Order: sequence, then structure tokens, then C-alpha cells
Amino acid sequence: MISISEIHRLLDGYARDGLTLATMGSHTALQILKGARDEGFRNLVICKRGVEAVYQQFGVADEVLMVDEYQQCLDEEFMQRLRDRNVILIPHGSFVEYLSPQRIETELRIPLFGNRMVLEWESDRVKERTWLAHAGLRLPKEFKTPENIDRLVLVKFPGAKGGRGYFIASKPEEFERKLEKLKLRDKERFTIQEFVIGTRFYPHYFYSPLKDRVELLSMDIRYESNIDGISRLATILQDNPPEPSFVVTGNIPVVARESLLPQILEMGQRVVKASQELFSPGLIGPFCLETISTEDMEFIAFEISARIVAGTNLYINGSPYSHLLYPEPMSTGRRIAREIKEAVRDDALERVIY
Ligand code: AMP
Repeated sequence: MISISEIHRLLDGYARDGLTLATMGSHTALQILKGARDEGFRNLVICKRGVEAVYQQFGVADEVLMVDEYQQCLDEEFMQRLRDRNVILIPHGSFVEYLSPQRIETELRIPLFGNRMVLEWESDRVKERTWLAHAGLRLPKEFKTPENIDRLVLVKFPGAKGGRGYFIASKPEEFERKLEKLKLRDKERFTIQEFVIGTRFYPHYFYSPLKDRVELLSMDIRYESNIDGISRLATILQDNPPEPSFVVTGNIPVVARESLLPQILEMGQRVVKASQELFSPGLIGPFCLETISTEDMEFIAFEISARIVAGTNLYINGSPYSHLLYPEPMSTGRRIAREIKEAVRDDALERVIY
């Protein structure tokens, strides 16, 4: 485990007026790079060979560093190149998936925006549930053993694979039959979760430690294949329905009924407070709750992403909510850069970089 003091010592060697904001070329890199520029920073994107054309074509990057494998980012020589440029890395979903939370915590000797400890809490399902429960959020019921399945459930497997491989069941026998088909070696590593019926809302929040404020910047619904396609053919497919799957293929914008906003804001605030109690200094910067609102207008939260999520790509030009908070188009990527800029101004970078 790299200590916080070691990261802050790296920062001590940085020229505060010459910082570079960097990320990996994938996921939400376009808005992170644009946001860095809009806030007056130099930026840099790390690309695996073959993907650089996107960043060149949109003209958003000041510098492109090429790698053959993303793991190369952990080579000492590569990290030194980044530190020579006073790089602060902005983590996103693909970044965490490629490097793994463990390697980020123990090997990545580059200042990172946010609290790297949070990655372990969001990627471990048991810890994640402890966190959300500690925050007092309503969670879907979980079934410890398949024999107790008495309603529609979703069976989930570990890792941020975007819903790939999940299956649904409503009886123990159906569960066993479908599990058998998968021929898993490690049968323990799944979660059986009540399938909550309602409407989905994935609010995108930003917690600013400098302002001690949780901001609701935007919201989306994930567009998932094949479940969102099945719903269009419900009557046609009713005699022979395909097995639903939940692979994220896109994002759809949404706003919530205004009377639901107090609950949505409160969930964000509670999650931040719980994180401060469980793993100080807690969550810093962007995060997203995956929730379902029931017909009683209660929210059930089934997942947290403690970094920028891909649904924010809908709002590179701002959202109805960010427009209320900021006069300029404020994407989540730009909001990150703004926090870093204000931390530099207040000589408080150590409060947002871990
Ligand atoms: P996840 O990997 O947890 O983000 O889940 C992928 C997708 O599965 C979500 O975007 C939802 O559409 C669906 N999903 C996950 N958990 C539940 C649940 N408990 N009830 C209903 N749908 C769910």
C-alpha cells in the first residue's frame, strides 16, 4: 500500500503552476481532456496503439503518450515520464478495470485525483454493501443461498464487466439449471439479488471537499442489450422469450420528477458522510449511484461507482442540473479540473489528491 504521505511528497516536487491533467484514452477521456483545457490546464492522454486517432481527430489532447499495454503505466520509467510533466491522473471506469484497484493502491506512484482507497470499497461487493447500508440507503434483498429464492432475482458476477453474464431466475430450480449451463469453476463468486421493478435513475454527483458540498451534476439511464430491446417486442416474444442480458451499450438522458430531488440529493450526501466514517478522508470528486425508484417513489440503490461514470458523456455541454449550478457548460470532467484549479489557488492540493 502506498501511503498518503508518499503521494503528497511526490506532489511537493511538482510545479503547481505547470500541472498536467492526464487520463487513459477510453471511457470519459474526451470530456476529461476538454474539461482540463477549459479550466486552463495542459492535458495528456495515454493511448493503447490504435485508439489515438479518436483523440487526435477531436483535437482535445495537448500530448498523446503511446503504450502497448495499459499495465505499462506502472513501469517506473513510464511513471517518471509522467511525474516529469507534473501529471495528476484522473481515474475513470476503464482506468480502474485495466490497472485493478489493488495495483493502483500498491504500485501507482503518481498523484491521483480523489481517494484511491475508495476503489477497493466500490469494487468489493461485500464492502460496497456495507458502505451503502451504513449510509442508510434502501438496498435490494440478497439471498445467501439459492434455496431461499422466492421472487425474481438477478444473479451477478464480480468485476465491472458492464452487466455481462448476469442471468435472472425466479425459483431455486431455475437458478440451478442456469448456473449449471454456465459451467463456472468458482461457484461461490456470485450474488443473488432481488430484481427490483421500477424506473431507473443513475444520478451523477460530485463531492467537493473544498466547499464541503455534494452537487448533483446530471443523471442518466443505461441503455442495455438485450433487455431494452426485448421490451419493444414483449408481445411478439411472449411465447418464446430469450434469456435477458444487461450489457451496457449506451446511455439515455433523464431528469427526475422535481419532488424526487430531495431524496436523490440526500442519498448522495449520506453516501459521502458514510465514506468519511468508514475510510477517511472518504469519497472525493465524482460518483454515481445506480438506483431504481419504485411506484411508492422510494429509491432502492444497488450499486455505487466512486469515480466518473460513462453516463456523464451525455453532458459534455452541461446538463439541466449543472446549468442551475454553473453559468458555464459544466461537464463532470470539467468539474474535476475546476476542483483541482481551486485547490491550487487555495494551496490545498493535498485535500483532493491521494
Ligand atoms: P450492475 O452491474 O450492478 O451495474 O447492473 C447492470 C444492470 O442490471 C443495471 O443497469 C440494471 O439494469 C440491472 N440491475 C442490476 N441490479 C438490479 C436489481 N437489483 N434490480 C433490477 N435491475 C438490476
